[in-house]
Amino acid sequence: MADWRDNVRRVVPYVAGEQPNWPDMVKLNTNENPYPPAPGAAEVLKNMNTEQMRLYPDPTAGDLVKAIAAYYGVDPEQVFVGVGSDDVIAMAFMTFFNSDKPILFPDISYSFYEVWADCFRIPYRQVPLDADFKLQPADYSAENGGIIFPNPNAPTGIALEPDAVESIVRSNPGSVVIVDEAYVDFGTASALPLLEKYDNLLVVQTFSKSRSMAGMRIGFAIGSRELIACMQDVKYSVNSYTMNRPSILMGKAVMEDEAYFRETCKKIIQTREWAKEELEKLGFTLTDSKTNFLFASHRSVPAKKLFQMLREKHIFVRYFDRPRIDNYLRITIGTKEEMEILLAALRTYLNK
Ligand SMILES: *Cc1c(COP(=O)(O)O)cnc(C)c1O
Repeated sequence: MADWRDNVRRVVPYVAGEQPNWPDMVKLNTNENPYPPAPGAAEVLKNMNTEQMRLYPDPTAGDLVKAIAAYYGVDPEQVFVGVGSDDVIAMAFMTFFNSDKPILFPDISYSFYEVWADCFRIPYRQVPLDADFKLQPADYSAENGGIIFPNPNAPTGIALEPDAVESIVRSNPGSVVIVDEAYVDFGTASALPLLEKYDNLLVVQTFSKSRSMAGMRIGFAIGSRELIACMQDVKYSVNSYTMNRPSILMGKAVMEDEAYFRETCKKIIQTREWAKEELEKLGFTLTDSKTNFLFASHRSVPAKKLFQMLREKHIFVRYFDRPRIDNYLRITIGTKEEMEILLAALRTYLNK
């Protein structure tokens, strides 16, 4: 007997960090920005004309695309926007990763990559980071159907040198190389300048972290006109109207406020460096994170125990029960006050 269950696309979905909702919570588990979006976003929402909501939005999201292109000094035809960079990267996988050869990404990385690969039936191989969680560019010269890695990497926070990024792009002219720059604004050089030399490079960024807009779902990719045109064709074959009216206008307003953006990133970097020192004093070992989170392991107390202890106090951090990283906590950088609460809880528990 035929059974519809035989024809289901079975997937193991990505597990996002929990979104608890306690009035007293300190939420440091999903790398959200502790500061509100630039004031222009609230202004847009206040002046939003709901009567216009009956009309479809601009399928090209032109206002947003132009603001992004102007900020980064590229042509609007080099910009693709989507519903968070998760949507942008999923579209890029569908568009560019259609080879029988495996795509490559690090074994310790954003765990959504393997979920998309499975979902789209793309063969893949996870390339081990070295013992210090560093990505070795030479490991990416093997035959492949595409490459993706975050820079800086997540959840390790470690950044690659611009030369290393370039060597991966240069040694793979037969593949599209996607650099996921979700955290680049917290102190890493972007791969964007390489676009002048390489047409196989796609740089993906998001409004969710450095631009305080996780709730609006805005991400974008910048690449050669040819790459972007290929992505647009796929997008218009799935859903033409991905960007809603508020997203387009609020995203534009946020992108145009460079001073606020720089100030927010600076505050987070300062808090990160201070919190890192404080955690070291408590016996933690940390990676050299260039992101808005810290990746920390305690020299005597297992990470899982600390995670549970903090959780009971409504202090939420992220713990990954995965090989190689199951003794680490990923701690989002909050405000200084939030970090003080975390540190106080740890001090009490560790008797320091
Ligand atoms: C947060 C994150 C994303 C996705 O963010 P969106 O909210 O979908 O824009 C993509 N890649 C990495 C490495 C991330 O940490």
